[in-house]
Amino acid sequence: MTQKQLPPGLHPDTLAVRSGADRSQYGENSEALYLTSGYVQPDAASSARRFAGEEEGYTYGRYGNPTVTSFEERLAGMEGAEAAISSASGMSAILMMCMGLLQSGDHVVCSQSMFGSTIKLIGSDLAKFGVQSTFVSQTDVDAWKAAVRPNTKLLFAETPTNPLTEVCDIAALADIAHGAGALLAVDNCFATPALQRPMLLGADIVMHSGTKFLDGQGRVMAGALCASQQLVTEKFLPILKSGGMTLAPFNAWVVLKGMETLGIRMRAQSTSALALAQWLQEQPQVERVYYPGLESHPQHRLAMAQQGGQGGAVLSVAMKADSPEQARARAFHVLDSMQVLSLCTNLGDTKTLAAHPASTSHGRLTEVQRQAAGVTQGLIRLSVGLEHLDDIKTDLLRGLSSLH
Ligand SMILES: *Cc1c(COP(=O)(O)O)cnc(C)c1O
Repeated sequence: MTQKQLPPGLHPDTLAVRSGADRSQYGENSEALYLTSGYVQPDAASSARRFAGEEEGYTYGRYGNPTVTSFEERLAGMEGAEAAISSASGMSAILMMCMGLLQSGDHVVCSQSMFGSTIKLIGSDLAKFGVQSTFVSQTDVDAWKAAVRPNTKLLFAETPTNPLTEVCDIAALADIAHGAGALLAVDNCFATPALQRPMLLGADIVMHSGTKFLDGQGRVMAGALCASQQLVTEKFLPILKSGGMTLAPFNAWVVLKGMETLGIRMRAQSTSALALAQWLQEQPQVERVYYPGLESHPQHRLAMAQQGGQGGAVLSVAMKADSPEQARARAFHVLDSMQVLSLCTNLGDTKTLAAHPASTSHGRLTEVQRQAAGVTQGLIRLSVGLEHLDDIKTDLLRGLSSLH
């Protein structure tokens, strides 16, 4: 392997195409895809040292792979983190983080409006193993502070949240975590390092679902944690090795190449999302639009400061209705009238995706948890893609203009 050291101070857009490129002896310009589950060792003594972690070198596919390393280096570079460790999906990255940092009797503080599976994993699944959790309002800094206990080890926030795009103050939460001897983790799926870099605001861990904007074209599942080298080596890598939530090299390669266009995609999709949000706000059938780029968003100023002046590509829209049943029927009508956009619970694609969170991503929550997260029956989430804005509007208008 021949790696030229990149000069310091490069911008994220440059790192997106240049970092993590470890060329083989063939000098390929596009990063290589190494499909192998094992590695031939030069001699028994080196093999022993590698397995003991005393010498660099790949040993077995579950522990590491050069293509996977390229993805990790690129993501760490873009996030401004010392290191990154990848996993098979965003959820398995959260599982790796929790298993690495927590034990029975420890306590986690989370936002109550986090991704549905995150609430399920931390609030229910990990509770079986004695991990305690408190879910607080995303936006109420005092509530986070009040929820901290002597056994609190982790604060975990997602900003903006899915699907209501609530924003939290990363720097303020970092202060609370550090004052309590705990760590702050931030799920950066929605903003991505193209807009928001939580490590620079004091976060200790940045979690990603590579499935979303990093791939950006809806092809593969992937996940990652960015953190200090020490956290990665001492806390997360041992869990990866024994837990086996390893990222497949092919998926790593797809996301690695997807990240090269992350900056231009995020800027273009944010621009369209803002225009669409402004337009939706004016439609008579619409109760409310949730989008951090709108001045009507309660944390607009904080979002703009934290997210490089961009609102991101995801917005949610609530239908006007007299009852939850009518709201649900109206949302379904708009979704079923689309001829171009995809009815799809994923997000972060070049294709605009529309979903009904209450019956999909948040469908496994109890009604109480769902209400706490503000996910009402009339809510539609849109992940704005790269189609022409006029075609997106026309497609939504098919249903909006024929509601009864
Ligand atoms: C999708 C998503 C996840 C989970 O990622 P997977 O790759 O689907 O496991 C976590 N957090 C947020 C905000 C997400 O959108």
